[in-house]
Parts: sequence; C-alpha cells; structure tokens
Amino acid sequence: MDCIFCAIETGAAPSHPVYEDPHAIAFMDINPVVSGHVLVVPRRHMTDLYGLGEHEAGPYMTAVSRVAHMVNKALAPDGLNLFQSNGVAAWQSVFHLHVHVLPRRHGDELSIPGTPGDHQELARLAAAIRSVE
Ligand code: AMP
Ligand code: ZN
Repeated sequence: MDCIFCAIETGAAPSHPVYEDPHAIAFMDINPVVSGHVLVVPRRHMTDLYGLGEHEAGPYMTAVSRVAHMVNKALAPDGLNLFQSNGVAAWQSVFHLHVHVLPRRHGDELSIPGTPGDHQELARLAAAIRSVE
C-alpha cells in the first residue's frame, strides 16, 4: 500500500516526530497552516474516522489530548484548534486518519492549504514540543 503516513510510521519516510505511544504517532505537518502545526496519526492504517474501531478511539483520543497538552505547554499559544477531515469534500488529502493540532495566536493568518515549512524551523519546533513530554 502506498501511504505516506504508514511510511512515516515504519521509518521508511522522514518526519519531525514529536510523540509516540503503542497506538499513535505525532509529527510536524510539512505544510503548516500555522506555526507549530502537528498531526496525530494512529499507527494502524485506516482511511478515515469511520475505520477507527470503538476500542481504538479511546487510546487514539488520549494521544490527541496528550499532544494538544504538549503543544500548549511548549508553545504557549493563545488558543488551539483540533481539525479532522473525512473525504475529499471535507478537504481530506491524505487517506490515513489524522487529527490536526493547530496552535493559534490572536491575529494569526491561518490559510488552508498550508505552505511548505522550513525544515530547520520544523525541527526546532518538534524539539521544543518533545521536550515537555
Ligand atoms: P488533510 O488535508 O486533512 O488530509 O491533511 C493532510 C496533511 O498532511 C496536510 O496538511 C499535509 O501538509 C500533510 N502532509 C502530507 N505529507 C506529509 C508528510 N510527508 N509529512 C508531514 N505532513 C504531511
Ligand atoms: Zn497508512
């Protein structure tokens, strides 16, 4: 299967990781819509939310919650959005379930889709977020 998030999960593709546990991984989005944009991804491949079993929903949302806390603590944003898309009509572009964690600033200019991030900056942000785990 040709899935970029599965490739990141196995280490076959590079990422700027911020979190991992037995159920989920989190890494910097390479096209951030705001500074500090992180994706939380279940280790098991599923296309979207409808593929997430009830027994998996708890551990996955625990990971999402942990990452949101880490981002909040590390970057001290003014606010934070969770965002999740299912289907092309809902703007899904990578078909492996993921939740976007978006730290927000008063007056920031969130624009979708994002633009390619600077890799040094992504590495710096990832290290800052990892450091509060
Ligand atoms: P969505 O539109 O909700 O499916 O979001 C997919 C997200 O995955 C987009 O924000 C992309 O920038 C991001 N993305 C795609 N490829 C990669 C990658 N190799 N590493 C990190 N983020 C990625
Ligand atoms: Zn996958």
